[in-house]
Amino acid sequence: MAVPRELIMATNNAHKLEEIRQILGDAFSIKSLSDIGCYEDIPETADTLEGNALQKALYIHEHYGVDCFADDTGLEVDALDGAPGVFTARFGAMNGYGESHDANANIQCLLDKLKEATTRKARFRTVIALVQNGTEKLFEGIVEGNILTQPVGEGGFGYDPVFAPVEADGLAFAQMSAEAKNAISHRGRATKKLAEFLATESNN
Ligand code: IMP
Repeated sequence: MAVPRELIMATNNAHKLEEIRQILGDAFSIKSLSDIGCYEDIPETADTLEGNALQKALYIHEHYGVDCFADDTGLEVDALDGAPGVFTARFGAMNGYGESHDANANIQCLLDKLKEATTRKARFRTVIALVQNGTEKLFEGIVEGNILTQPVGEGGFGYDPVFAPVEADGLAFAQMSAEAKNAISHRGRATKKLAEFLATESNN
């Protein structure tokens, strides 16, 4: 059997690692940041998802000398001119609602801002940046949907209780199984593009 190719994902998020390992399969051995002894805060100071994903992947490549990929996700709401975008994790905290990364605070902030909105259209967008052999490549995944007027469901994380993808017949992400969500999600789609690229590369 061929030796799996090692690639670092710039995260310690167990859920993301599990998802990517499932999609990439046995041909790849995906390591986390703690697997390479990286415990520092990686800068994320760009003003686009592309910029942040690339900044993280390049940081690991430069400081640890390994091939690496990193992701960044944002929720883009039409009635808010594409906000919160790169500020999705901090949206509540930036507007006086709780701490950064507090999902309930983020959701409450979003619902309040959309009270008078005439459209609730939104999308999740993930960008994955791959840095290998000194070259850079970006992969994008998008899922279109609508922001509900109140949270529903028990599953998922983050904004899942208020995001209803158009492909899910009115269900919120938080009401779907992990498999059903991954099949249409922003991150699932970006990850599949990365997987396709890596697979064609290793066949050449
Ligand atoms: P990150 O770039 O994966 O850290 O995500 C940035 C922000 O988007 C965090 O606040 C997450 O909670 C939110 N987010 C990312 N992916 C999802 C998702 O699949 N569902 C709901 N919220 C998400």
